[in-house]
Amino acid sequence: MPVIDTPVQIALEEKYGAHNYHPLPVVLSRGRGVYVWDTEQNRYLDFLSGYSALNQGHCHPAIIEALTNQAQKLTLTSRAFYNDRLGPYEQFLCTYFGYDKLLPMNTGVEAVETAIKLCRKWAYQYKKIEENNAIVIVCEGNFHGRTSTVISFSSDHDSKNQFGPYMPGFVTIPYDDIEALKLALTDKRVAGFLVEPIQGEAGVVVPTDGYLRAAFEACQQANVLFIADEIQTGLGRTGARLACDHEEVRPDILILGKALSGGTLPVSAVLADDEIMLVIQPGQHGSTYGGNPLACAVAEASITAIENENMADNANEMGVRFRTGLQQLNSPHIALVRGKGLMNAVVIDHPDPEAAWKLCITMMQQGLLAKPTHGDKIRFAPPLVITADQIDEALKIIENSLSILD
Ligand code: PLP
Repeated sequence: MPVIDTPVQIALEEKYGAHNYHPLPVVLSRGRGVYVWDTEQNRYLDFLSGYSALNQGHCHPAIIEALTNQAQKLTLTSRAFYNDRLGPYEQFLCTYFGYDKLLPMNTGVEAVETAIKLCRKWAYQYKKIEENNAIVIVCEGNFHGRTSTVISFSSDHDSKNQFGPYMPGFVTIPYDDIEALKLALTDKRVAGFLVEPIQGEAGVVVPTDGYLRAAFEACQQANVLFIADEIQTGLGRTGARLACDHEEVRPDILILGKALSGGTLPVSAVLADDEIMLVIQPGQHGSTYGGNPLACAVAEASITAIENENMADNANEMGVRFRTGLQQLNSPHIALVRGKGLMNAVVIDHPDPEAAWKLCITMMQQGLLAKPTHGDKIRFAPPLVITADQIDEALKIIENSLSILD
């Protein structure tokens, strides 16, 4: 196939694609481990990792093997029939995370929707909240996806404005504010508390130590479901199996996505115990592709890779090295370094509102890909297979690039 040059590729997307993203001007055609290559064979360190879908790195051999083997046998049955991959996969994941049951979906936001439905129905059946009156508490600065229900409780104007009318039944409280949560929990109509253990899209906002544990206990006392959206924080990213593990919290409903398929195809899942999961009966929820055998094979291989290669431990170690290195740069343009494991961000301090974007362009030109979020924050989340040498290589690029802001 002839290689189409970069400006032409970009122009094609611009002309024929919806304008719902604002990508960096790089056209990628190959990936392996922590590296990606553009169509002109320039190599980059991928510090976005498909928004943490690529924890295992690009084209992880064991995941690709599971994908290609299964793709030659059976890819989709729909849930009208049983398939020989779904049961073993459900057993594997339920055992691994310690839940009675799993409900398979595709994208992250679908899994969030699933969790909300489970929570509401549980509240009507078990908590005896009057039907259509259940409330789910959410946090300011949240990001749980962009369906019309989920944007209804978003505080991000871009994803919300002019897409109303909005779905009722959500109450927003400040993040990392246990007193605000306790107050909100006094309303007897509250069914659940939906929370990101670290707010990713908001710019890697890490709550105070002990917040998740205290929030979980407050929910337990109020008989309210603690729903953890671990779509971005889960699966080794923060240096543990789940971010909730850092505080020994076992969510009542656990939501997973992204790295569940190691960046190969959309796979998400909701885990819960019987009392919650069995409120949904045949016909009440589902998805044509949810639980397809290809996804099951890939997800099992994805989790196995994280576990076998101790990726969470590496995330921990490399995360400390990375944050320490960033702090040692002593740059006047870095106002703040924050994060956990390999989920990190810097806040840029500069009078130019485009400074973070310009820095990302310079880093790209020097071989590192990262993307600003909310204007002045840059997230750094490489695949968890990154080595110490690659972390040091990245730090050098960041240091060199920062000089454009002088
Ligand atoms: N929840 C969180 C915490 C996320 O970070 C994201 C995506 O970035 C989502 C939900 C939505 O996932 P998806 O884009 O797969 O629908």
